[in-house]
Amino acid sequence: MAGDIRSSESVETQVFAASGQDQKDFAFDEAHDPTRPADFWFQESDEGTILFVVFYTQACRWSRCLGCNLPARMSQRHVGFRNMMAQVDFLFALPEVMERRLTLRKVIVSNNGSVLDERTFSSTALIYLIAKLNLHLPNLAVLSLESRVEYVDEAELEFIARALEEGDTPTKLELAIGFEAFDDRIRNEVFKKGLSLAQFESLCGLVARYGFRLKCYFMQKPVPGMSDDAAVQDMHRAIDYLCGQSRRHGCPINLHLNPTYAAFGTALERSLRQGGYSPPRLADVARAALHAEGRPLSVFLGLSDEGLACEGGSFVRPGEGPLLEKLETFNRTQDFALLREVLALRG
Ligand code: SF4
Repeated sequence: MAGDIRSSESVETQVFAASGQDQKDFAFDEAHDPTRPADFWFQESDEGTILFVVFYTQACRWSRCLGCNLPARMSQRHVGFRNMMAQVDFLFALPEVMERRLTLRKVIVSNNGSVLDERTFSSTALIYLIAKLNLHLPNLAVLSLESRVEYVDEAELEFIARALEEGDTPTKLELAIGFEAFDDRIRNEVFKKGLSLAQFESLCGLVARYGFRLKCYFMQKPVPGMSDDAAVQDMHRAIDYLCGQSRRHGCPINLHLNPTYAAFGTALERSLRQGGYSPPRLADVARAALHAEGRPLSVFLGLSDEGLACEGGSFVRPGEGPLLEKLETFNRTQDFALLREVLALRG
């Protein structure tokens, strides 16, 4: 027990120190009720209805990525398994979840950090969640777990996949990994992601061996000093690379492309205020994604800022509702003609 307390103190220190390194000035959310998830919402994709749930836990231990304020929705302190199990119970008592229980095809589990980091996300709560998924969602086809690569543990994944097989419908495991930028220097030196291509490629091998799937999160224009064209080119290179890895390893990959918003309390907000940064245009997001047409890659565009953008920091400009609608329809259909329509509307 004493060991547990010491560990949680050291995680707390790590979180605090890491988020200070980039002079982030957001506060953690200590006022949140720890028996309630931080957030949840539904998405429509070509795979069917998706439930996206963000559990409220101790914040991401890495916490240093340049434009990220996701930890602002989390606690600096440890959240124990009893509270996290109560979050799971809360989720499955929600009428909007239970009404969709027969149609939900995919659940994405997040804690704005790493679900596979057992120091911040309780293993007991994760097993409990999987049991509830098997009990309540008989048509679940994919369970997606967000994590940094260093917390991926082969034995743990094998166990989770076995548990998922016991559900009424075979459920595939998907690992959702934050990549953010393709360019090595931008990803690791500027954005401070701490992810090498070698780490990613070894994960592809593991995922392929077990027949799992991968989702890769990228941010379009994630740092100041990057032109709109350079941001599109970076995504084109990312698409080429992911297609190559998917073919080489034989693992299905979904590209989750998030247009970057200026997150409050980060260096991006400061740069936006000083005129050194502007979020990408939706038309450029369409231009980036169009490169995946006819390739072995599915694409989902992350079109919500989850309430984390600073004022004026969103990638949706006034009057861009029709463009947004077309991109949302693209998510449901994978119809690339819609991306061309977005480019034509831009004129
Ligand atoms: S982007 Fe992910 S890994 Fe990086 S600080 Fe944010 S939550 Fe942590």
